Amino acid sequence: MTRKLYYEDSHLAQFTARVLSCEPGKDCYEVVLDQTAFFPGGGGQLPDTGGMNMARVIGAKERGEDVVHFVTAPMAVGSVVECRLNWSQRLRRMQNHSGEHVISGIIHSKFGYENTGFHMGEDFVTVDYSGELTAGRIYEIEREANLAVASNVPVRCWYPDKAELDALEYRSKKELQGAVRIVNVQGYDTCACCAPHVSHTGEIGMIKIYSWMRHRGGMRLTMLCGMDALDDYNARCANISAISGLLSAKPMEVASAAARLWKEHEQLKQKMGALYRRITADKIAALTGCEGNMVLFEPDLDMANLRELINAAKEKCGGIAAGFIGSDEEGYHYILGSKTVDLRANAKAINAAINGKGGGQKEMIQGTAKATEQVIRAYFAK
Ligand SMILES: [Zn+2]
Repeated sequence: MTRKLYYEDSHLAQFTARVLSCEPGKDCYEVVLDQTAFFPGGGGQLPDTGGMNMARVIGAKERGEDVVHFVTAPMAVGSVVECRLNWSQRLRRMQNHSGEHVISGIIHSKFGYENTGFHMGEDFVTVDYSGELTAGRIYEIEREANLAVASNVPVRCWYPDKAELDALEYRSKKELQGAVRIVNVQGYDTCACCAPHVSHTGEIGMIKIYSWMRHRGGMRLTMLCGMDALDDYNARCANISAISGLLSAKPMEVASAAARLWKEHEQLKQKMGALYRRITADKIAALTGCEGNMVLFEPDLDMANLRELINAAKEKCGGIAAGFIGSDEEGYHYILGSKTVDLRANAKAINAAINGKGGGQKEMIQGTAKATEQVIRAYFAK
């Protein structure tokens, strides 16, 4: 049986232990120690990682009364090993997890909602609740949770005896079997949970709810706490700073500056559309009839206008009216039209000649070509 040091002291980051067994596992060695601070995962919290002597501990899991460590090198049975947790990872997980207890406790006591789901991912923590919350309520909950952090109240974890447990009111996500471990955030929450937690709420740091959505008749909140919230805040600040520079706007005014830019962009798009239409109309008016193929390279048009131009051009030429937009370097988009040549039937041969891809109808095909203007003109000059 492994002595669970993580239950005795959730802040123990280094310890020594005796190796009870070591078996080869899948891409690692499965090591059981007489005692461990590596939390094997549970209650929504992932297993700890870290080091054992010179090897890496890539995970851990509970097996009966033991904790099995997944280690990158074998350990001699009977020897004493030096172990250290990836403390930054564990602290962040405890901050997020304890922060979730504070939020869930407040929601439960204020609105009576149950916690129906909890996911601690790499980037975000999501928590599901059984009832709906408005944005205003969520701001209030977040505020109260951060006041709980500022109050630095104790967090106590223990195994009550049956009489004490029967008398306790506590939240629990599922029917529990065996000894029940209770996590109490003084004045805010009492919940059955097997994971290690911070010992005072001040350690959680900021509790930030980023977004929320309706989910299965209730609500899903996305949040981060502590160091993860700080990293996220820095990333957001860097983004806003970059946008602020690009828009020459103060950081807190980037949204209105972006809205102005967007409006200008829409107006420009409309003007561009009108210009394209005018250029196309002029080009259509300038078309003269020809007996063979007509090749038009039109860098100033977009595809919709090129289609219009080719529609008009195919009426005026005896062969294929071929329109191209693009450049030799980046390749071309093409639209071909004809009243006399079955383009669908000839698409394969045409594409082969101009290194192209595409197809369509008898009178019009569309695609891309990776040939130079010279090669394309030479082909259609035949
Ligand atoms: Zn928990």
